[in-house]
Amino acid sequence: MLTLTYEYKTNPTAEQIQIIEHTLNVCRKVWNFALRERKDWLNSRKCQVNACSLTSEYIISADEPYPNYNTQAKSLTGAKVQYPELKTVNAQVLQQVLRKLETAFIDMKRKGMGFPRFKNRYRMRSFVYPQMGKSKFLSGNKIKLPQIGWLKYVKSREIPDGFVVKQARIVCKASGYFLMLTLECDVNVPAPVASGHPLGIDLGLDKFAATSDGLLIERPRFLDTLHRKLKLLQRRLKHKQKKSNNRHKLNRKIARLHQRISDTRKDWHFKLAHSLCNEVGMMFVEDIDFRTWAKGMLSKHTLDAGFGQFVEILKWVCWKRGVYFDKVDKDYTSQVCPQCDTHTGKKELNDRIHSCQSCGYTTHRDVAAAQVIRNRGISALGRSVEENACGDGLAGTGNSLVKSRKSRKKGEEASFQSAS
Ligand SMILES: [Zn+2]
Repeated sequence: MLTLTYEYKTNPTAEQIQIIEHTLNVCRKVWNFALRERKDWLNSRKCQVNACSLTSEYIISADEPYPNYNTQAKSLTGAKVQYPELKTVNAQVLQQVLRKLETAFIDMKRKGMGFPRFKNRYRMRSFVYPQMGKSKFLSGNKIKLPQIGWLKYVKSREIPDGFVVKQARIVCKASGYFLMLTLECDVNVPAPVASGHPLGIDLGLDKFAATSDGLLIERPRFLDTLHRKLKLLQRRLKHKQKKSNNRHKLNRKIARLHQRISDTRKDWHFKLAHSLCNEVGMMFVEDIDFRTWAKGMLSKHTLDAGFGQFVEILKWVCWKRGVYFDKVDKDYTSQVCPQCDTHTGKKELNDRIHSCQSCGYTTHRDVAAAQVIRNRGISALGRSVEENACGDGLAGTGNSLVKSRKSRKKGEEASFQSAS
């Protein structure tokens, strides 16, 4: 099974905008109500029976079950009698809100994400139609959605042959309303085979990236100009009165600029990823958790560069172009000599040159790190081929590679993913 997400800009009429905003509003109310229900239940179980606190008491009876997705979806159906507003929105859309809340709680427990938050009107920005069904809902540059009706969109790309639209999501961004279509195709696409020219990539703060072929990529400067503009606008914000019309207008302007920065950066990431894929058969990067990087001292620069997003995009582009992609162990990449494998000791931040004491190899430090990454990637490949030769399966068919890659794929962003 192959899943893609295509994004289109829409041109809704004034009436349709009203319906979209109304839907978002009802979704937000459902989210907040369901979250309150869960929070109350959890709070009521917090304090011990023999040590009741002054602030929280046992307010929900002991045999009351925890409000999970099933019970909440059931009570949502019941609530429609009392609150006719709930009937104005598609039932599946509202159920999807509850489902998302369920995932938020599961992610909190399993992945250590934060506690789900209440949403104000700036934080509920999208809703999804989970099943588009069999009937014909696409015609020219229009899509038929429940309640909204025929919605016009800019058909910037055709839906590829053999793909079926499974879900439609409406997203409200600073630059307008967007339509995201989840496409599915019932084919098995084999993962790219590891062969051809290998390339290691080292990501850093001084230079954005360095390749093992000696190419150094500078940080994009055009973002600096946009960031300066952003700062200027944000400084102006404190002179505006709270809740005033001018403040609202300025906030809109800031939101549009944020959008432009993130769009520009993403575009640059895609172009860079494509140019790196030229004439390359295998791509290796460090396995770094960029979230911990982003918390450190250099957080602003890290977020600015968006390394996490770039690695995800690179992985997706590699898959699309048939380039083998893998992550390798990140430890000591800058302290090892790529030629003779000896430890050269820690380099200071301003040490820009790698120069080996034992074999005399000299190059830029980031290029040396990229070469270490490439070597590690190749040796990891060699190992799995050996394992295969000794164990079951045929050597060279790459069965074990496919398996290890599959397990790594879990929990990654849906929009860049492909599942087989
Ligand atoms: Zn050396």
